[in-house]
Amino acid sequence: MTRKKLIAGNWKMNKTSSDAVSLARELVLSLGTQADVDVVICPPFTALEAVAGAIDGSLIKLGAQNMHFEPSGAFTGEISAPMLRALFATHVILGHSERRTLFGEGDELVNRKVLAALKHQLRPILCVGESLAEREAGQTLKIVQTQTERALEGVSREMAASVVVAYEPVWAIGTGKVATAEQAQEVHGFIRGLLTKLQGEAVAQRIRVLYGGSMKPANAAELLTQKDIDGGLIGGASLEARSFVELVRAAAAAS
Ligand code: PEP
Repeated sequence: MTRKKLIAGNWKMNKTSSDAVSLARELVLSLGTQADVDVVICPPFTALEAVAGAIDGSLIKLGAQNMHFEPSGAFTGEISAPMLRALFATHVILGHSERRTLFGEGDELVNRKVLAALKHQLRPILCVGESLAEREAGQTLKIVQTQTERALEGVSREMAASVVVAYEPVWAIGTGKVATAEQAQEVHGFIRGLLTKLQGEAVAQRIRVLYGGSMKPANAAELLTQKDIDGGLIGGASLEARSFVELVRAAAAAS
């Protein structure tokens, strides 16, 4: 089965609202009618509404970088799924390694967020991946299995096809060290097998598994042509229109 490739930009804690709108407008000019690759941009919360306006009418979709699992309530500083939906967000990054390591998010919390996102028709971009120490200890597949299984607990087969998984080896995020195509495909193939066990063959074949970790125009083609790599979650290279557009073009060429 051919899965439509997806390129998602994680802008992290970068760009004021007006800077974000400028970048979004540049992307609309270059990619606004791009139909053979799904394109999602994930600005910071403060820029979501303005960026939603800037991409309105284009094929670029809007994502958030995190959310709370409750729909509303006394959770100072948090943002809920209905709030994101009201801004026309369609995707939300969950379980990013920076959330896990810097903000103490564990698998159980990520699972609650995944279930809440799905309940509110947001597609989770679920991040999983091992640290350098875990890779060196030969634990990569075990870590990825645990994170994926726990995050997807209670997710029905009907819902699971909306999930996007992003394999992001922590040692490759923002470091310039990219996993080789073979290293990435090994884990992606493993995730596909695991999804088949958890959700059945038909659903597993529909779930997109993205690679994330220093993906750049120079290394994208090799990664994106691997059998189980269905796109990329892009940090640094998503902050400038030129490199992000090149990545989307690379995904189109690899389709
Ligand atoms: C990320 O943070 O999801 C990411 C992949 O970052 P970078 O592309 O900068 O490694």
